Amino acid sequence: MTRFYCPQILLSDGWAENQLLEVDGLGSITGIRNGSMNEAQHQLQGPVVPGMPNLHSHAFQRGMAGLSESRSGEKDSFWSWRKRMYHFLQVLSPEDVEAIASQLYLEMLKAGYTSVGEFHYLHHDVDGKHYANPAEMSERILAASETTGIGLTHLPVLYRFGGFGSREPSSQQGRFIHEADEFVRLLEKLFPSFEKHPNRSLGMAPHSLRAVSPDLLSKVLPEFQRICPGAPLHLHISEQTAEVEECVEWSGLRPVQWLFENLEPDSNWCLIHATHLDSQERRTLAESEVTVGLCPTTEANLGDGIFPMQEFMEEGGGFGIGSDSHVSISPCEELRWLEYQQRLLQRQRNLLCGESGMSTGRYLYEQALAGGSRALGLGAGKLQAGVRADWLVLDPEHPLLAERSGDALLDSWIFSGNVPPVRDVFVGGRQLIFEGHHSEEKAIEANYRQTLKKILS
Ligand SMILES: [Zn+2]
Repeated sequence: MTRFYCPQILLSDGWAENQLLEVDGLGSITGIRNGSMNEAQHQLQGPVVPGMPNLHSHAFQRGMAGLSESRSGEKDSFWSWRKRMYHFLQVLSPEDVEAIASQLYLEMLKAGYTSVGEFHYLHHDVDGKHYANPAEMSERILAASETTGIGLTHLPVLYRFGGFGSREPSSQQGRFIHEADEFVRLLEKLFPSFEKHPNRSLGMAPHSLRAVSPDLLSKVLPEFQRICPGAPLHLHISEQTAEVEECVEWSGLRPVQWLFENLEPDSNWCLIHATHLDSQERRTLAESEVTVGLCPTTEANLGDGIFPMQEFMEEGGGFGIGSDSHVSISPCEELRWLEYQQRLLQRQRNLLCGESGMSTGRYLYEQALAGGSRALGLGAGKLQAGVRADWLVLDPEHPLLAERSGDALLDSWIFSGNVPPVRDVFVGGRQLIFEGHHSEEKAIEANYRQTLKKILS
């Protein structure tokens, strides 16, 4: 057991001073109590807050961030961006994916994310042929998480169709496609690498309602529950109005309506985006135990629309944040955008703050911790006994945090911290970032540069 002394720490019931965090050999917190510096093996050098889960990532897209910012044709949209993304991924080898994911996960740790939900749909080779090892690409993601140390919830994606009504996929979607039995075999092959690993969980992700069919789900979901009972289930939903219209045309129901009428989603489910909801769908979602996965910087970059955040939170909804396409790797920017969208719409300030008078930064941070942790199968999202020891030490020397304590630390970081004032980062009680640096960062970055040189030249 290792004891860490915290001069100031955000606990489940608020800020506390002079606390000892006790962590066991598997990286779980076993106790938190008042204590002094000389009772601890390690002294943490600044205010301690829980590490943020990043619940939605497509790792390879980090390599193309910023490369689709010139208009193609008359009108650019999510769909024209998707064409460019399909073009980029056509050339990626397993080694390339590992190099990009390693760089990405390193950047996530430095920014304050301690775990990632990898929504992984790039399964097969460039011709859509299956690799001899069906888990080849997934194992590259596992290797990247191992190299960097970030906590991983791996979500292999079930993708079979190219549109609602079981339309056949295009040739560009060939790298994503599985039949039901092939996908179940992939889960079976992966499961032993996750069982008993303290920093990994295995879930799955039907890509979207347009990429699966009711028949396919009825074959795969019971098998998933058999292999990974109670594990996270993620799904893209209602990101685009065209997708909502096609769903209505296909089923007579809007996507969230269809899901709740056909699948009874529970607290293991996370719906990514859910941007376009009618008021009934929004209430159904808010009153359920489902988490909504919001990715505001990507949703803004792709011109998706604005999630009805204020009403959803007032109705009791739960959310977490993801960096999705990785145009930004910054928990504070995701949270800031959520609040700023509402400020611009309502022409008011401090709208996402729960009870009046509470710090907006702390409210957003704690809500995203709770939702993100639930969505990644990590438990409570608070520093307390029984959870994984994932935390950040904020940098007390950073000018941004001068003369701040308690909630003002989070408000200053979230609303003005364009460079993360994160000093040290711990995952499972193991220190990965030391004064802003990772022991492997030079090698990881060199490999990333080489990889992009090969792909993009
Ligand atoms: Zn996504």
